[in-house]
Amino acid sequence: MGKVLIIGAGGVGTVVAHKVAQNTDVFTDIMIASRTKSKCDAVVKAIGNSNIQTAQVDADNVDELVALFNSFKPEIVINVALPYQDLTIMEACLKTGVNYLDTANYEPKDVAHFEYSWQWAYKKRFEDAGLTAILGCGFDPGVSGIYTAYAAKHHFDEIQYLDIVDCNAGNHHKAFATNFNPEINIREITQNGRYYENGQWITTKPLEIHKSLNYPNIGPRDSYLLYHEELESLVKNFPTIKRARFWMTFGQEYLTHLRVIQDIGMARIDPIDYNGMKIVPLQFLKAVLPNPQDLGENYDGETSIGCRIRGLKNGKERTYYVYNNCSHQAAYQETGMQGVSYTTGVPAMIGAMMFLKGIWKRPGVWNVEEFDPDPFMEQLNKQGLPWHEVFDTDLEL
Ligand code: NDP
Repeated sequence: MGKVLIIGAGGVGTVVAHKVAQNTDVFTDIMIASRTKSKCDAVVKAIGNSNIQTAQVDADNVDELVALFNSFKPEIVINVALPYQDLTIMEACLKTGVNYLDTANYEPKDVAHFEYSWQWAYKKRFEDAGLTAILGCGFDPGVSGIYTAYAAKHHFDEIQYLDIVDCNAGNHHKAFATNFNPEINIREITQNGRYYENGQWITTKPLEIHKSLNYPNIGPRDSYLLYHEELESLVKNFPTIKRARFWMTFGQEYLTHLRVIQDIGMARIDPIDYNGMKIVPLQFLKAVLPNPQDLGENYDGETSIGCRIRGLKNGKERTYYVYNNCSHQAAYQETGMQGVSYTTGVPAMIGAMMFLKGIWKRPGVWNVEEFDPDPFMEQLNKQGLPWHEVFDTDLEL
C-alpha cells in the first residue's frame, strides 16, 4: 500500500523500523536513512528483512534530502532524527511532494527553546501542495494528544483540567543515563517549567514544582512540573481547558547528577574553545554518556504515561484517567530497545499507517489531536501499547 522513508536510526528509529516491518500489509517498501549508514544496516540486520533499503543522508542539508526523496520516492517520511532537522526535512518534502510525520517539534541548535510556531508557519505551503504534515506523533507529544482528543470525543462535553503524567519507573542499572538523546533530554529538563492557567502561561524555575503521584502498578513517585510541547497545541485545540500541566518523574540520583552536570558547566550549549578546537560541552557529554540504545538489555520495570482529566459531562463534573504501562523488558525482547524508545516509535508507525490508509490524510500541518482518535486508539491496542481507563477516581491533581 505505501512506501515509507524513516530518517534516523537511533533508539526511536530502530523501533519504528521494527514496527513498520511488522505491518507489511500497509508498508510495502521501506527505507531507513541516517547520518551513519552502518547504523541503518545494523537495524536491518536485527530485523532480518533484507528487502529494507538503507541510505546515508545529512538531514541538515535540503539538497541531499531532495536527491534521496527523488530517488526513493516515498509517500511519507517518518522523521525520527533530531528536532534540529524538522524544518530541512519539511522543506525537502515540499520540494519533492512527500508527506511528513515527526515526534518532536523544531528546536534551533543554538537556543534551548522549542515551540510550534516554526512548523505551524508551513501550514499554507503544505495545504497548497496537497501534502499532509503530522506533528508530534510519539507518546508525549503524540498519544497524550490522542488520549485528550478521545476523552473530548467520548467522555466530556468540556475538558477543563488536563494533567499529562509521565512516569518512568524503570531501572537501567547505570549510575546516570538518559532514556533518549542526552542532548535533547538535558536541554528539555534544565529549562524553566511552564504551565497554562486561565488563558495565561505561568513560568516556574526548572523543576521547582513537584508532587508525589501514584502510578498504576508502580505506586508513588516524585513528579516534577515541566514545560512540554503538546501543552501549546492542546490548549489551542481544546479552548475549554482552564489549566494544562505536564509532570515527569525523576529519581533523586538522576537529579543529583543533573545538578552536578549543570554546576560544572557540562550542560552548556554554547561552543567553548578547547585546545584550539570549538566544542559544545553538552555535545561532548553526550559522547561519554551511555548510549540510550544500549540500555535495553538490563532495563527492568515499566513506564506509565497518561492523561488525568477533569471536566463536565451532561452538566456534571467527572474525572477520567487514561494511561498505558509499558514494560522495558518486553520492549527490549521485541525490538532490542527500551520502553522509552518503544513508546515513541510505535505511535510514529501508527501515525504513518493512519496516513497511508487515508484516515489521517488532510493537506496542511496538523497536531495529532486534530485527527479522529478512534482508529489510532484501536491500533494502540493491537501494536503493543494497550490503554486503560479509570472513571471518577481521585486524580490527586
Ligand atoms: P538518537 O540520538 O538515538 O537518534 C537520532 C538519530 O538521528 C541517530 O541515528 C542520528 O544519527 C540521526 N541524526 C542526527 N542528526 C542527523 C542528521 N543531521 N542527518 C541524518 N541523521 C541524523 O535519538 P532518539 O532515537 O532517542 O530520538 C529520536 C527523536 O525522537 C528525537 O527527535 C527525540 O526528541 C524524539 N523523541 C520523542 C518522544 C516523544 O514521546 N514524542 C520521546 C523520545 C524521543 P547518528 O547515529 O549518526 O548520530
